[in-house]
Amino acid sequence: MTDQRMLTGDRPTGKLHLGHYVGSIANRVRLQHQYESWFIIADLHMLTTKNTRADIDQVSGNARQMVLDALAAGIEPERATFYLQSAIPEIGELNTLFQNLVTVARLERIPSLKDMARDADKETDMPYGLLGYPVLQAADILCVKANAVPVGKDNHAHIEVTREIARRFNHLYGETFPIPELITSEVSSLVGTDGQAKASKSLGNVIYLSDSAEEVRKKVSAMYTDPNRVSADVPGTVEGNPVFVYHDTFNDNPAEVAELKERYRAGTVGDVEVKDQLAAALNRFLDPIRQRRASFETQPGLVDQIIVEGTERTRREVQQVLAEVRKAMGLAGA
Ligand code: ATP
Ligand code: MG
Repeated sequence: MTDQRMLTGDRPTGKLHLGHYVGSIANRVRLQHQYESWFIIADLHMLTTKNTRADIDQVSGNARQMVLDALAAGIEPERATFYLQSAIPEIGELNTLFQNLVTVARLERIPSLKDMARDADKETDMPYGLLGYPVLQAADILCVKANAVPVGKDNHAHIEVTREIARRFNHLYGETFPIPELITSEVSSLVGTDGQAKASKSLGNVIYLSDSAEEVRKKVSAMYTDPNRVSADVPGTVEGNPVFVYHDTFNDNPAEVAELKERYRAGTVGDVEVKDQLAAALNRFLDPIRQRRASFETQPGLVDQIIVEGTERTRREVQQVLAEVRKAMGLAGA
């Protein structure tokens, strides 16, 4: 392992799903031996679209589930540091300092923020905090001087803002931050089970890593397919069809997928068979994740300990970085 650091994370708005897996978690698992790993539980980011007391009351339960999901997916607890964003006030301070290194016009051009506002029914009254989402993200990433950030497509433009803020800071106040690299994945935006462009917790069109085999079968049987195909003998379209996107992404038997595609195009296979094979493939994919989850679940207190100790460790780290930042800027008390 080098002294290079990776940082990424999730908003504690629910459990992790297959979209997270392909967009970010697979890379987290793959890179954890190459980088020192930091995973943020981004509850301040959650507040930009969900900030009722009821939303906030769900953070601790969701955070525990997310950490368990990450361990189940293959993150090794002795290697990774998980931390709760709101428990580190220095991140908020860094956010305040970074707010002056980017323009409003620059942030207003980012399409994913408009998508998030729309999905949260806040299109016409975007909160100031939501416009600043990528600035807070820069604070998350740079507060531990991360070098690499594996995230899905909806976050790519945000990481560009982080890079610009880091460059701008270094230019104004002297070399302080690395310019973090974006790590992309092959499927950087997984389609929802309902055919919507993005599988998202908030839209409820997802298959969770923690879904049972029966839940997976139910969700797959209700999945959106080619709407023009009214019966099994009508030739269907494979391209962009969510059922085949999931087959391509998760089925470990490419010969089976090729054969199903051929018969689908020819109108010689029914949706039921295609979906049965998909449910079986997804369950094969999820089984090892389920097994690891079950073994971590038998260790009471493990997840809480990971969050508490990780947050303490991260805070000490961030305090040092913030002291360096204040000194570089010549702020009082530095
Ligand atoms: P929310 O609906 O609350 O925004 P979400 O499902 O979009 O939740 P986030 O916590 O915002 O999840 O995202 C966590 C990480 O997972 C980010 O790196 C994001 O890019 C990635 N991600 C989320 N959904 C997908 C998807 N459908 N395809 C690929 N990557 C995704
Ligand atoms: Mg999101």
